[in-house]
Amino acid sequence: MIMKAVVIGAGIAGIACAIRLQIIGYQVTVYENSAYTGGKLAVIQDKNYRFDAGPSLFTMPELIEELFALANKNISEYFDYQQLDPITKYFYEDQSVLIAHKDKNKFAQEIEEKLGEKSEKILDYLKKSAEKYEITADLFLKRSLHKAETYLNKKALKGYWNFRKLDVFRTMHQANASTFSNPKLVQLFDRYATYNGSDPHQTPATLSIIPHLEFNIGAFYPKKGMVAIPQALTKLATDLGVNFVLNSQVDQILIEKKQAKGVLIGENKFFYDLVVSNMDIVNTYQKLMPLQKKPQKILTQPKSTSALIFYWGIKKSFENLDVHNIFFSKDYQTEFQHLFEQRKVSSDPTVYVCISSKVCAEDAPENCENWFVMINVPNNSGQDWDKIITDAREHILAKLSRNLQENIKYLIETESILDPRSIESRTFSSQGALYGNSSNNRYAAFLRHANFSADVKNLYFCGGSVHPGGGIPLCLYSAKIVADLIKNQR
Ligand SMILES: Cc1cc2nc3c(=O)[nH]c(=O)nc-3n(C[C@H](O)[C@H](O)[C@H](O)COP(=O)(O)OP(=O)(O)OC[C@H]3O[C@@H](n4cnc5c(N)ncnc54)[C@H](O)[C@@H]3O)c2cc1C
Repeated sequence: MIMKAVVIGAGIAGIACAIRLQIIGYQVTVYENSAYTGGKLAVIQDKNYRFDAGPSLFTMPELIEELFALANKNISEYFDYQQLDPITKYFYEDQSVLIAHKDKNKFAQEIEEKLGEKSEKILDYLKKSAEKYEITADLFLKRSLHKAETYLNKKALKGYWNFRKLDVFRTMHQANASTFSNPKLVQLFDRYATYNGSDPHQTPATLSIIPHLEFNIGAFYPKKGMVAIPQALTKLATDLGVNFVLNSQVDQILIEKKQAKGVLIGENKFFYDLVVSNMDIVNTYQKLMPLQKKPQKILTQPKSTSALIFYWGIKKSFENLDVHNIFFSKDYQTEFQHLFEQRKVSSDPTVYVCISSKVCAEDAPENCENWFVMINVPNNSGQDWDKIITDAREHILAKLSRNLQENIKYLIETESILDPRSIESRTFSSQGALYGNSSNNRYAAFLRHANFSADVKNLYFCGGSVHPGGGIPLCLYSAKIVADLIKNQR
């Protein structure tokens, strides 16, 4: 008899999990509340400008490739992407500019010439970043942290042996500041804490595995924008036989005698052999199974940062900008104190400008650009967002105009805005956090919810709010962990 599985939510992890379960023999149905699949990977179309609403940095494409290989399908019939060079352009307030080239030797050379830090030191840092990744990936990213087998396999033993190399007892900032003498470089490498919504002054130095992904593997961009990722995966899933039901909000997980039995949608009950929730874990407990005992310690862990994004159609083309551009704040520590202690936005935030039309020409009219202008903001705890948006808009415009020596305000042709409230309401993401729990604590990996329920049989969880965490690559790992757990239990 064919077993039936249901996935609640078609975020990137939900789609990937559906693909994996269908491949191992389940008949999978995905219920998605929105009219589209992809969750945070959405599109904003404003007149002639197209924007990726959510993620803009695509790393580890091999995890997408793996899904097509598993399904025995030719990825080139579904999805195409390119490697970016340069990876990022960094602008500092003293008008200096640093280019992170794809070739790490060239990047190291650029740093030596412009910041006076020996290129060997940079290359050594990236080598250590790769080593840390190799040690952590098998233990912390690719398996459930909540199963004894994880701790007993050979790769885990290698991890214990090399524990010292993980640098868990220093913060990312302490490690960077003791490695590099130039504060601009410390700021550059501290910024990687924000890739999972954390604070470099609190997150352990272990998280400096992230530069490895960009510099040793590469930064990429899909040929048709970030949204092409969920679109290609949805097509793959559909071709495999997965059934997507859009505009359909699951109201409850049906649980009988400590076993997940299916879902309730409106008045209708639908029965399945197993249930996977891709809904944010806090909301899964609060909305879908309110009577279930809640793991309070895990659900109340501090959440990651959220974002305020202006999507500006700009009626000019800027030769000196690339796809990814960072305009650094003068005082990074103050910026993070605002985000995590005062839960406010500083008057000099670091501004990230992503311009996909640099590589996807059809995203903006000729001689124009689609600017995705983002700052990190605290997650939503009822701040006066309308005032924050008005103030931040002024500060961002002043900063970009100062750095680019051009009055940006007069170049804005179209404008859309996303803030923590809309991120929360569109994807049910608790407090509008981009990456689930923050990693501002060395035990954070152990304080994320497991990928399965310890109390309810046949109930699993994937996505950015559970193990191993947020961001596209980790969400894809969560889907793999769930499918492996299910496969091993059959
Ligand atoms: C502005 C922004 C920038 C980001 N930048 C990056 C980046 O550059 N690189 C990167 O890797 N990551 C980035 N991220 C993080 C990344 O987007 C997320 O970690 C990832 O997309 C989360 O995927 P998910 O599978 O957890 O599901 P989500 O994207 O959170 O989607 C969950 C889905 O479930 C649906 N759903 C929820 N509840 C129900 C229900 N009861 N019934 C039916 N459907 C339901 C929702 O409608 C939604 O579609 C960014 C996020 C944002 C918002």
